[in-house]
Amino acid sequence: MAFLEIKKYPNPILRKKAQEVKEMTPEIKRLAFDMAETMKKNKGAGLAAPQVGELQRIIAVQTNEGAKIFINPEILKKSKETQINEEGCLSAPGLFFKIKRSKEVEVKALDENGSEINISASGLLATVFQHEIDHLNGVLFIDHLALPKKIWEIIKYRFKK
Ligand code: ZN
Repeated sequence: MAFLEIKKYPNPILRKKAQEVKEMTPEIKRLAFDMAETMKKNKGAGLAAPQVGELQRIIAVQTNEGAKIFINPEILKKSKETQINEEGCLSAPGLFFKIKRSKEVEVKALDENGSEINISASGLLATVFQHEIDHLNGVLFIDHLALPKKIWEIIKYRFKK
């Protein structure tokens, strides 16, 4: 087991699109397992593979039943009804924004054994799935902010260090 280094914004890898996992190799399983451990250690609600420098479609999500791995996750359905939750991101420590997203999502994925799973998520869990699946497409939570607020927040973030 290994804890993985989390890439921080504005690392360019966070803007790349992750590739579909074609085969459940021991390397993929190990990466998924290490991602779950890394997420837990950092007390994250979720973690996507690009955040640890791997362009693979894998996310770890903290569910009611503990940390779970979702491989090649896809949103099948999104509710029209939205909700606003405060989001943070392990790749942007200290930044928290209220972001509007669908209130419910249906997600299809593979588990760590390659079996197909379907999950319906609502509330905070629905937000986490949308946030993590965004990462697989190079999309960050700040992209959901209105432009003036986004510019202002990025300026503050860059000068904080
Ligand atoms: Zn994130």
